[in-house]
Amino acid sequence: MTYNRCGKSGLLLPKISLGLWHNFAGVDVYENSKEMVLKSFDMGITHFDLANNYGPPPGSAEETFGKILRKELSAYRDQMIITSKAGYLMWPGPYGEWGSRKYLISSCDQSLKRMGLDYVDIFYSHRPDPDTPLEETMMALDQIVRSGKALYVGISNYDPKQSQEAFDILRALGTPCIVHQPSYSMFNRWVEDGLLDVLEENGVGSVVFSPLFQGLLTDKYLNGIPKDSRAAKSHGFLQSSQITPEKIEKIKALNLIAQDRGQKMSQLALSWVLRDPRVTSVIIGASKVAQIKDAVAIVDHPDFSQQELEKIEKILQS
Ligand code: NDP
Repeated sequence: MTYNRCGKSGLLLPKISLGLWHNFAGVDVYENSKEMVLKSFDMGITHFDLANNYGPPPGSAEETFGKILRKELSAYRDQMIITSKAGYLMWPGPYGEWGSRKYLISSCDQSLKRMGLDYVDIFYSHRPDPDTPLEETMMALDQIVRSGKALYVGISNYDPKQSQEAFDILRALGTPCIVHQPSYSMFNRWVEDGLLDVLEENGVGSVVFSPLFQGLLTDKYLNGIPKDSRAAKSHGFLQSSQITPEKIEKIKALNLIAQDRGQKMSQLALSWVLRDPRVTSVIIGASKVAQIKDAVAIVDHPDFSQQELEKIEKILQS
């Protein structure tokens, strides 16, 4: 594994991180979830990304992870970076979502309890709240660090302007933001439109989610929707309507470039996201250990040539 510095902080993160959004919940097979976490750690993936609501049911991914930690990994806590977030709907009533101090602090307490931890390494505001003053959300993050419940703070899904404001407030409070978590993939390039510049200017790292566009940027959907895929699951977030003939055409063309490079389609897509040095880490999802092995194999693969990048660009723009 290769470890990249997260912005200008002291924290190093693995190029490949594991996210527990799908396949680690109460509805999933515990043995498979455990195997994926343990094999990841064996391969040098030290960073595990969670959130209060990952399930279904919400909270159950943190419970599964807590069980794995307690039973298998308790001796290695100091070798791991464990994150959680609050922002999306977690419990009924007016205090179970968005960005109030009430919600963030109580949700962080609940996450720690579910995982059996004293602290998380990074706690995120999962999304900006249009109705709560940004100062309140950032002061809650600052307090979470000062009360020892998190070591660092981050933000997720904030646009460039909101991010700059959040960075300024957190810096003034004395708890600088070290990381932003945006979506980024060949099919979703919004971060190139200003966000990565703002992060670089502020010395903030980026760990990007859904680098495979939830599995579409692989060879999996080239001949229809397989039964065991995320798009086929009733609780999966990838909708079959997102799998359009135009996208499949592009993936077929990209797959040829991948083959020329001696990579699988999924590996090409991850390498491409990591080509930008402002991307600290890609957070992958997985349903089986083999997918994690595929991802980790990109770490030693040669960088892209200019010609390859141009060919890819042409396909993506077509
Ligand atoms: P990806 O885009 O990496 O999609 C992962 C899925 O792709 C897998 O579950 C698997 O699905 C499929 N896949 C992976 N490798 C391969 C392969 N080699 N061949 C074929 N199919 C493959 O990421 P996710 O969308 O899962 O997001 C990753 C993480 O990012 C989440 O777990 C979460 O931690 C974080 N996240 C954060 C958000 C935020 O708002 N901050 C929002 C969303 C995610 P299949 O089941 O079909 O096998």
